[in-house]
This record gives sequence, C-alpha cells and structure tokens, in this order.
Amino acid sequence: MGTRQQNSEFDWLSEAADLNGMEHRMRAATVCVMAISITLMTGAVWAQNRAAPASVGGLETLAQRPACPGNPEALGVARVVEIDTTGGPGFGFEHFKAYDFLRDGEVVLTFDDGPWPGNTPAVLKALAEQCTKAVFFPIGKHAMWHPEILKQVAAEGHTIGSHTWSHADLSKLAPDQAKEEIDKGVSAVRVALGQPEASFFRFPALRHSPELLTYLSARNIGTFSTDMDSFDFKMRKPEQVVASVVSKLKKHGKGIVLMHDFQHATSLALPELLVQLKTSGYKIVQVKAKEPVQTLAEYDQQLEKELGGGTADSRATLSVVRTISE
Ligand SMILES: [Zn+2]
Repeated sequence: MGTRQQNSEFDWLSEAADLNGMEHRMRAATVCVMAISITLMTGAVWAQNRAAPASVGGLETLAQRPACPGNPEALGVARVVEIDTTGGPGFGFEHFKAYDFLRDGEVVLTFDDGPWPGNTPAVLKALAEQCTKAVFFPIGKHAMWHPEILKQVAAEGHTIGSHTWSHADLSKLAPDQAKEEIDKGVSAVRVALGQPEASFFRFPALRHSPELLTYLSARNIGTFSTDMDSFDFKMRKPEQVVASVVSKLKKHGKGIVLMHDFQHATSLALPELLVQLKTSGYKIVQVKAKEPVQTLAEYDQQLEKELGGGTADSRATLSVVRTISE
C-alpha cells in the first residue's frame, strides 16, 4: 500500500485497484416523501433475523431477547430505525441536515469500501462479539471479487447499501458515466449477494453533485453522508482510529460515524473502539431500509455473466445439483 501521505480517500483506493489488477482478473435533492419509523423502541437486539420482524401496530415486539452469547456487557443494538427512501432522502450532517433522527448518545456505525479479505471478516467478528450492527457501503468491484465475504456481511444481519462500481469521483464524471457508476455498483451488490439490498448509497469521498442527488431521488435511493468522518484511511495505527472516533463523538454527542472495513488499522481498532463506546454510554442504532433497492436489469445481466454465467446465486447450484450419495 505504500507509505506516502494519503490525503484523500481516492489515493489509497487507486493503489488497491492497481493491486487487484494484478491479483485478480475479473472473473468474469428533492425529498418528496420521507419517513423514519422506529421499529424498535426499547431493549437490545442480540439476534437480528434478516426476515421482516413480526410487528404489531408497526412496532416490533421484543418481549424477550437472549443475552449476547459470552458477553453480558455487550454493546448490542439499542434501537432499529427503518427509512422510507422514497424521494431519496439524505442523511449525515456534513451535507444533509433535514433529518436529525438520532437522540443524544446514539451512534450509527458505517463501513465503506469493502468487502476485503482479512479486514472485513475482522470487522464482522468484532461487531458479532458485541452483538451489534452496522451499515456497509461496499464497492461494486470488491463485491464481485469477494462475494463470499459480502454474503457473510448479509448473513450476520448488517445493512448493506452501495458505494459505486469502481469508487470513481462522481463529481468529475459526465452525468451518464456517473449514473453508470452508481447503477453498476447497485447491481454488483445484488449479483454478489443473489438478492437486492438496502436502497442506500454513499458517494466516494462524499463528493456529490446536485444533478446526481436528483437522479438518486428519482431512483428512490437514500444518500448517506456522515456526521463525523474518522479519516481512518490516513491512519496506520489502530489506537489512532479509536482516538479519532472517540474524540469526534465526544464533541458531537451522537452521530453517523464513517469508517472503512477495507482499512487494516480500522479492523484492528474495532474491538477496543466498541468497548470504549459501551463504557462511555453510547447506544448503537441500526438503520434499515423499508424497501430493497431497485436495480437496473441491464447491469444485473451484464454482471451475472461476468460472475459466471447464468445465475448470480450460488445457492441455486445446490438446488439444481445435490449430492445424494458418495
Ligand atoms: Zn469510499
């Protein structure tokens, strides 16, 4: 990855792309209607089922939840909110101030640029040990390179949005190219997982344009900026990542935190960071989308072919060909 100073999120990612070019040949804002409904008000969620929760009058019933296995002091999840992305609402006070949905002390953990071998599984392990949940914004190419890791993210009940196809700076692209970057990234997540995920999007380096926000609005995709950027991509030591997030949270009191599961230092920092969040009294809010994202068929088909022809869902193989004796 080199040791030179990296000043923007794009610097290190282009290095990673170069690496991957060698290691991998690809196998193949107008908010009209928006609502955040609180589907869970109290208690801690220790086990999230990816299926829709049983609800009574719009509120999930959570009479009894099993404690976090092996960790009675776990951070857990204090509240789950569901976002109606109709009209493409934006979140994160760095750019979007319309929806201040977090209470004092509440934190949303978000991780960009994965899935990545080693680092993403380490982040997942740290989250699982604290029985807590996050939102992931994977890069389309990375999802296609490592679909098994993205499937693990989904299987563990985290929310998954998207973060373009190749992490291009969309503010510098022609509109049609930028839209292709967005939609190919959305389809890559669907194809890698075999199912569409949350209708959430984050711009690379948070560089958006009014025109693209209008496009996302028309596509009913919610945009996530951040309340505090950890700048973890500039850090090599895990303690720097912990200090960055903790000090920024102390200043803001709550917020959507931007980190990168792609980053090694972050993957090492997470166990200690989560302990410090717990001991400081922060509460984790899990954010879900009311509806899955609508992908565009042309990109689904293009990427399905690249992934191996015919189907994107590896489970389909098991339903077609099954060992009955050996
Ligand atoms: Zn990024």
